[in-house]
Amino acid sequence: MPGLKVLLSRKTIAQRVAEMGEEITRDFRGQSIIFVGVLKGAAVFLSDLARQVPLDSTFDFIGVSSYGNRPTAKEDPAGHAAWDSLGEVRLTKDLDQSLADRNVILVEDILDTGLTLNYISKLLQAHQPRSLRIAALLDKPSRRKQPIQAQYIGFTIPDAYVVGYGLDYAERYRNLPDICVLENL
Ligand code: 5GP
Repeated sequence: MPGLKVLLSRKTIAQRVAEMGEEITRDFRGQSIIFVGVLKGAAVFLSDLARQVPLDSTFDFIGVSSYGNRPTAKEDPAGHAAWDSLGEVRLTKDLDQSLADRNVILVEDILDTGLTLNYISKLLQAHQPRSLRIAALLDKPSRRKQPIQAQYIGFTIPDAYVVGYGLDYAERYRNLPDICVLENL
C-alpha cells in the first residue's frame, strides 16, 4: 500500500501562494492579466493564486498529455523510472481565446524535466502576447532536461513523486489539501 507523508502543509502552501500573488500584483500594477492554467494539475493552484491578485484578470486553460512522464498504477508499480519523460507532449485542449497583446501568466503545478512547459511556452509565444511569465508552484531542478525560466516559483523540492493540491497519482489524490510524498509506490 502506498503511504502519504506531508511535505508541504496547507498552511505553508497558503503563505507562499499569498507571497507569489503579491509579487505578481506588484509586477503588473495597473495592467490586465490572463492566467493560463495547465490542466488538470494546476487548477487548484490557479484558483488560489488568482484570488491573491486583485487586478483585472481572466482565466483560460490548456490541456496536454505527456507520455511516459508519470507513473500509472498499472504500468509502474515499482515507481521511479516510468515517469522519466519520453519527450512527447500532445495538446489535448487548446485555449479558448487569443493571447495576442495580453499579459499572460502561465500557471503550472510542477516543473520537472521542463519538456511540458517548453512545449506550452512555444505554443503561447506563437500568439504574440505582450508578455509571458511562468508561475510554477513546485520545482524539481535535479530532473531538468530542458532549460526553462520560471519567474515565480513556490517551492524547490527534492526528486520525489508528490501528490495533493491538484497533483495526482493515476487521477487520485488531487483533492488532498497538503502536498504529500507518495511512498512505497
Ligand atoms: P515536465 O514536462 O516538466 O517533466 O513535467 C511536468 C508534468 O509532469 C507536471 O505538470 C506533472 O503533470 C507531471 N509531474 C512531474 N513530477 C510530478 C510529481 O512529482 N507528481 C505528480 N503528480 N506529477 C508530476
